[in-house]
Amino acid sequence: MTGKLLSDYSVEELESLVCSLEQPRFRAKQLYEWLNKGENFDGMRNMPKSFLDVLSQDGFYPQGVQIVKALTSPTDGTVKYLYRLKDGNIIEGVLMKYKYGNTLCVSTQVGCRMNCSFCASGLDGLIRNLSAGEILGQVVAVNRENSSQSERGVTNIVLMGSGEPLDNYDNVCKFLNLVSDERGLNISRRNISLSTCGLCDKIIKLADDGFSPTLTISLHAPNDEMRKEIMPIAKKYSISDIIKAVKYYFDKTGRRIIFEYSMISGKNDGEDCARQLADVVKGLACHINLIPLNYVKERGLAGSNKKSIYRFMSVLESRGISVTVRRSMGSDIEGACGQLRRKVLKDESN
Ligand code: SAH
Repeated sequence: MTGKLLSDYSVEELESLVCSLEQPRFRAKQLYEWLNKGENFDGMRNMPKSFLDVLSQDGFYPQGVQIVKALTSPTDGTVKYLYRLKDGNIIEGVLMKYKYGNTLCVSTQVGCRMNCSFCASGLDGLIRNLSAGEILGQVVAVNRENSSQSERGVTNIVLMGSGEPLDNYDNVCKFLNLVSDERGLNISRRNISLSTCGLCDKIIKLADDGFSPTLTISLHAPNDEMRKEIMPIAKKYSISDIIKAVKYYFDKTGRRIIFEYSMISGKNDGEDCARQLADVVKGLACHINLIPLNYVKERGLAGSNKKSIYRFMSVLESRGISVTVRRSMGSDIEGACGQLRRKVLKDESN
């Protein structure tokens, strides 16, 4: 059942709602357009005030996410947003500006229960799942802030903010449908990436359910023993389970798999690790992103130095594997991978 946040509704669900309130069906599409523009009731100009009053008296509200702060990185122009949810929780997101478009990193949960040993998002555990409309609301709010007449504010989306998207499966799938709906934001499904620590049964389900975002796997270790030391989820799914699941995903969707490998100094960055990693991904249609670990003070782990990263990369390259070192954006505003966390604003009246 959909609650009272209207951004949670698909056009079809809005149609049943408006019909139940004795309004013509076409109001649903109008409402959907306004919702996707980030409008509140008072800005919905072509809608009868009496109808909007009924909605609001019945407890319906249009937007679930409000930008409360934007911090711009002086070095690379990346913007970190703080959003407030209706229940007062604060989540974070990051907009990265590239030549080809603007990529928004969105969160799928408040907190996270995966508790990876290097990541800030899981420090307080899982607080709650975000609804589809709250995930969409992040895109809507940032798009509104950054759009101009000729250009869209957000062209690409990565589900790489706080939370494990496949641990909030139904809401994330509904979000994928909403955000790519041509009656709304109409963001191309090809421009959406989903990153997971590797919930294998859900990877298979995603493919079976007909979704095909670019799948990014947070691997971070070349063998199960080491992976278990840094990622608790590795106790549930082995690397060979992951490889089976991503092969299945590739066969169904035809999308090349991306592996993320965050490099931790003295832990997973040796040449032997690179050789093992090459064996793990051998024969897969994939690409590996190496990222120096970003610093999280509570976690206390250090990122690898440039020299080890490039040595690691050349071992992979010499084995014919497609690999890049990813530019880390936004680390000066604590907006880089693994640095997003739940915040409590000191001044709640803000
Ligand atoms: N839960 C999902 C989505 C989070 S995406 C997942 O695990 O993929 C965030 C990405 O940043 C993941 O690849 C995650 O492993 C990585 N990450 C987390 N902490 C990091 C850190 N301190 N430095 C670099 N990358 C980190």
